[in-house]
Amino acid sequence: MIQFTNTLTRAKQEFIPMEPGKVKMYCCGPTVYNFAHIGNLRTYIFEDTVRRMLEMNGFEVTHVMNITDVGHLESDADEGEDKMEKGAQREGISPWEIARKYEETFFNDLERLNIKRPTRTPRATEHVVQMIELIKKLEERGYTYTRPSGVYFDTSKFATYTELARLDLAGLQAGGGGRVDHNPDKRHPNDFALWVLNKPRHAMQWESPWGRGYPGWHIECSAMSMQYLGATFDIHCGGVDHIPVHNTNEIAQSEAATGCQFVRYWLHGEFLQMGESKMAKSADNFITLQTLVDEGYDPLAYRYLCLQAHYRSELKFSFESLDAATVGLRKVYATKAENDPLSSEQAFHDASEEVLAAINEDLGIPQAVGLLNRYSSYRLWTYFDAVMGLRFEERTQKAPETLPEDVAELARQRDAARKEKNWLLSDSIRQQLIELGYEVGDSPAGTTVKKRSL
Ligand code: AMP
Ligand code: ZN
Repeated sequence: MIQFTNTLTRAKQEFIPMEPGKVKMYCCGPTVYNFAHIGNLRTYIFEDTVRRMLEMNGFEVTHVMNITDVGHLESDADEGEDKMEKGAQREGISPWEIARKYEETFFNDLERLNIKRPTRTPRATEHVVQMIELIKKLEERGYTYTRPSGVYFDTSKFATYTELARLDLAGLQAGGGGRVDHNPDKRHPNDFALWVLNKPRHAMQWESPWGRGYPGWHIECSAMSMQYLGATFDIHCGGVDHIPVHNTNEIAQSEAATGCQFVRYWLHGEFLQMGESKMAKSADNFITLQTLVDEGYDPLAYRYLCLQAHYRSELKFSFESLDAATVGLRKVYATKAENDPLSSEQAFHDASEEVLAAINEDLGIPQAVGLLNRYSSYRLWTYFDAVMGLRFEERTQKAPETLPEDVAELARQRDAARKEKNWLLSDSIRQQLIELGYEVGDSPAGTTVKKRSL
């Protein structure tokens, strides 16, 4: 049995997909105007483990993630600067070029973290037609009003608007709370733009029944998720910051348009913190994956660090914790294939049931990692790498640190002998390594040694 904490009900619920054996899952993707930071990447690692664990349970998962390449505004409340334009000004290239550039760096980050490429990654700029159709439907059903600055969704017409985030609208309006903006065109502070009009200086514009302009941010996720997954689908993921505005608005506009439930299970990942505050693109506490690589860290050590915190807990980032994860991962990769503690079928079966049960209990990845480390079984790590994504087999076979010390020492001695052109000695060391069961090769960096496969 799989259980998830559903943000809709705030309770752990058994997961049962709409269609047996198949899961339809949507995740809010990146706004491609800058590098993703490692906080964003924590959320994508979490979503990747959701997908991987569903696959391990035998489900066929359709995983859709949008690419926000339409410029939208700095704050969720339709105010501030346009992100894509800001990126373009910063780098002196067009918003379209900015979007392609950072889309590519994003996919490169996913690859380095061994995050599976989603089944589909639709771009917002290629789905403006679907967004316009959806807004037309909302207009026909009486959920919109038009002002010179744009077409707005009237949240007062949607009775369950506060449900996902358990919003207290009266409190918000009285107290402000950052969520309320003062756009005088809006009837209610929580109303939001579906289509933005009369921004002639904005570089990305399309014709629409309401005039030239561009879509609001929220509408893209409704239009693209429903396009590829249908009016109702199983799982929607995102970071916790999306609960009160973005995901709330997605539900409102989708359900208002279709009249049926939009998403059955909402899963939200907690933040990566830097000190006391969350890591954010606008703050100066912003670390990219490339920064970690430049500092000599293995991206998978960052993945391993994330796996050790539950997705619904905050994770405080520090270089000390990343160092500890690096050491921990090295130990994982040092797991020996010989003398496996779970060599009997019964023992392996029981242990794998135990680890899977931990994973299936609201994505208990940290508990599962704890068990894997306790069993320290090569077979078990190999099996569960399908969920952990640490490239376990690849690294244990190739990583030089997993060579026994005497073998590594022989390789070093052979390099020294070759340097001195002592061919006799280098040949005899080579022979010793072969007798120990290794394949010996030469590379520009020196002797390569690999365990001979049986
Ligand atoms: P954005 O590109 O800002 O739309 O964010 C992409 C994803 O990263 C969203 O799902 C956000 O909820 C998530 N996110 C943003 N900041 C953090 C953070 N500090 N820690 C974890 N996830 C984050
Ligand atoms: Zn979204």
